[in-house]
Amino acid sequence: MKVAILGAGLSGLSCAKHLEDNNIKPVIFERRHRVGERFPNMEAVMQLMHRPIIDPVVYVNKKYGLNLLPSGITHSLEIYSPNYKAVFTGFNLGYTSIRGHDDRSWECQLARQITAQIHYNSTVTWQELEKDFDWIVVATGDPAISRELGVWKTDTEAFLKGCIVKGKFDIGVAKIWLNNKLSKNCMVYSAPFSTSEASYCTVAIPSSPEELDKLWSRTVEELNIEPVPKTEFKFEEYKMGRVKSRQVGKILLTGAAGGFVEPFMGFGQIPSILSGIYAAESIITGKDYNKMTAWFNKHYDNSLILREYANTMDNDKFDKLISLLNLPLFSNLAANTNLPVLGIAAKAVQFMNFIKKPITQKR
Ligand SMILES: Cc1cc2nc3c(=O)[nH]c(=O)nc-3n(C[C@H](O)[C@H](O)[C@H](O)COP(=O)(O)OP(=O)(O)OC[C@H]3O[C@@H](n4cnc5c(N)ncnc54)[C@H](O)[C@@H]3O)c2cc1C
Repeated sequence: MKVAILGAGLSGLSCAKHLEDNNIKPVIFERRHRVGERFPNMEAVMQLMHRPIIDPVVYVNKKYGLNLLPSGITHSLEIYSPNYKAVFTGFNLGYTSIRGHDDRSWECQLARQITAQIHYNSTVTWQELEKDFDWIVVATGDPAISRELGVWKTDTEAFLKGCIVKGKFDIGVAKIWLNNKLSKNCMVYSAPFSTSEASYCTVAIPSSPEELDKLWSRTVEELNIEPVPKTEFKFEEYKMGRVKSRQVGKILLTGAAGGFVEPFMGFGQIPSILSGIYAAESIITGKDYNKMTAWFNKHYDNSLILREYANTMDNDKFDKLISLLNLPLFSNLAANTNLPVLGIAAKAVQFMNFIKKPITQKR
């Protein structure tokens, strides 16, 4: 069986690993000159986002033999609104992971676990691969090919700007600021690389590039941070959406290309990794890839409800939310139980009719 994978990121490499474990050696085509050339950045995996899976890093290791070493275990999440602060503490709220060209990044770790050849600086298209391969796994991290195939629908777009900051950090503490002065309808986050370095990033929805620059300048000023020179990065129009079908003929759409990024917080690492594994599994067993990945649809829909609600939030509402979250009942529910808190929150938002038009999804 001949399998081509377009993209050597999280979903493509996870797919390659699972194929190799089952004696299929794929051929990987990567547009950049190495794995993880993207700017170095800290990303988060929050257990909250993956329930009922309790610990996704342990899960993918035990079930699929994928070794992902996080850079830290998050034991405290601090959320700031303009006037309030909520702190969630728990034994293991989630992880931080390094992304990009750092050798410790998750994509570099995955690349070391496979033996398949990666063709770098590739400009090959899926159309060119069609005649030589039985399967083409699209793992390009963006919806360009899904759009070409006519199956993509964008639900929201984020603009991101961030940098690395030097200072004194607790590796177990991640921080989020909900404040429309700093990040329109979304958040600023910080996650430590080590005890002396952290990533800071402003995420705004929706915004123009100019507005993002202003929000970022205010973030730098108000949080009193000093960006390390040449570490600033900017990401415009990061598209989150869904596809009508994740399989089009012999093409399987994985990761961000297959709509595996949840639109509320923009988290997509674990769904992307799982989608790569499921694509491999579908190739190996002949099982229906759309059915295998249907679990993500409900999660995505709940997340979209929360995103639409977040888009209506002003700073007063952020203050109210944070004072509510600070009640022991809520923080305990989120940090110390395995309740699907996001699903419950989405139901509550719908029930209270915060959003006027209910979301009806047709896939
Ligand atoms: C700034 C930022 C912060 C984020 N923070 C978080 C977070 O905190 N937590 C979280 O869970 N998620 C986060 N995400 C989302 C997460 O990074 C993505 O969901 C995940 O990386 C998607 O994996 P992927 O395999 O689809 O794409 P990627 O891992 O991005 O890999 C795609 C690969 O395909 C290559 N490629 C692109 N086009 C082609 C082509 N035509 N041919 C060949 N190769 C190609 C690229 O060069 C790249 O190597 C964040 C995203 C961004 C941008």
